[in-house]
Formats: sequence, C-alpha cells, structure tokens
Amino acid sequence: MRSSYVDGPGHRYALFLQGCTFNCPGCHNPHTIAPRSPDARDVPVAEIVADVAEVAPFLTGITVSGGEATLQWEAVHALFEALALDPATSRLTRLVDTNGDAEAGVWSVLATSMHGAMVDLKALDPHVHRVLTGRTNDRVLRSIRDLAARRRLDEVRLLVVPGVNDTADQIDATGRWLASIDPVPPVVAQGFRHHGTRLRARAWAEATTRDLERVADGLAAYGLDVRRRSLPEVAVAV
Ligand code: SF4
Repeated sequence: MRSSYVDGPGHRYALFLQGCTFNCPGCHNPHTIAPRSPDARDVPVAEIVADVAEVAPFLTGITVSGGEATLQWEAVHALFEALALDPATSRLTRLVDTNGDAEAGVWSVLATSMHGAMVDLKALDPHVHRVLTGRTNDRVLRSIRDLAARRRLDEVRLLVVPGVNDTADQIDATGRWLASIDPVPPVVAQGFRHHGTRLRARAWAEATTRDLERVADGLAAYGLDVRRRSLPEVAVAV
C-alpha cells in the first residue's frame, strides 16, 4: 500500500507480509495468517525499493507489517538496508509492526537496519494471551524488554477486548509491568472491533469509548503515557 496514515507516524508506505505465528480469532486480516495465500506473491527487494522511491517525496517512512513481519526477518533486513543505501529513500523512517513473537537474535539483526518497532501486547496473562492468539506470550514479553533496551521500541499496543483482557486486576498487572520497562514505552489502547473477525471473536463485545477511557486511566495510574485509538470505521454503500 503506497499511502497509509494508520500504520505508524505520518504518511507511510505499508507492506503487508504473508504468514503469522499466531492465529487470533480477532484478527482483522485472517487471510494473512497462512504461510501462503492465493493473493500473496513473491516480490524482489529491488522491486519494492523502486516502488517506494517513486512516492518517497510524499512519505514519512515505511512500515513492514503482516501477518507477522519477523517471520521473514532476513528479507525485511535486506529491504531496510537497501532503502537506507538508496538516496531516494534513505531519509524515510523504517518501522516494523509486530506481534512480538520473535527470538532475540532476530531483533539483534533488525535493530541495525530499522528505526523502531510497534509491538502488540494482547494480554500479560499467558492464559488470556492463549485465548486471544492461540499461543503463550513469553517471547512477546521478552521482545518488549529487549527492544526497549535497544532503544527500538516505538510503542506497545494493547487491544482492548471487553470482558476478556480488561479486568481491573489485568489492567493493574499490565500497568505495573509496562512501567517496569526501561525506558518506559508509549502505550496505545486500541478498541476491539468485529470487522473481519472469526470464530469465538464474533461473540466478544466491541470496545466502547468508555472501555478505552477506563483502560487508559488504569494504565496512566502507573505513570504511563497512554493514547486511545479506535479502529477506523467506514461508511459502505450497498
Ligand atoms: S498476530 Fe496479528 S496478523 Fe497474526 S493472527 Fe494475530 S491479529 Fe492476525
């Protein structure tokens, strides 16, 4: 996508990679989860750099998302290095949008070519995390600490699913844990929406403005810088 205002700061080129390590019922792009899809195609790094270069004067940066971008971390690293070397694209910020489910070795390489990462934290409690993603969160928590220590953690995003991951004790524990990260990251509380979701997520409640305010206030009590973000809605002509 050559133009995005919702995949990081400013006006960005957004690249969505195929394949994910999680299988979230609440995923808004479930077609990106499988390793291959009829809609996906293999694109050479040089072709992407040339496409970014064409629109670079109008961009703030590029965000590589998914699926889970770090499943193809070697290609992402090669792309970022190529963008950094090309005079037409070198000034663009290079960000990764990630579920955080990656080994430390992946970040040690990507940290040399990316400016930062935006990490989803679906739940601090590993059991709740499994309900929301199908997997535990040990690698996610380690990634958040690791990226912060490397000064590559741009933000932590919490998807607020009412009645699932927003109980008072979970918000307290999450606020305390995030406040212990060094340096403490900016936090975004993002409301769950049904659009595109599957399975049991169809029965989960959508987050209201009041839900987001409650979560943001609970986290702010730990000194966190919390922004609220509702997923955009569009009016569709039928
Ligand atoms: S981590 Fe993101 S892309 Fe992967 S299944 Fe969950 S919501 Fe979808």
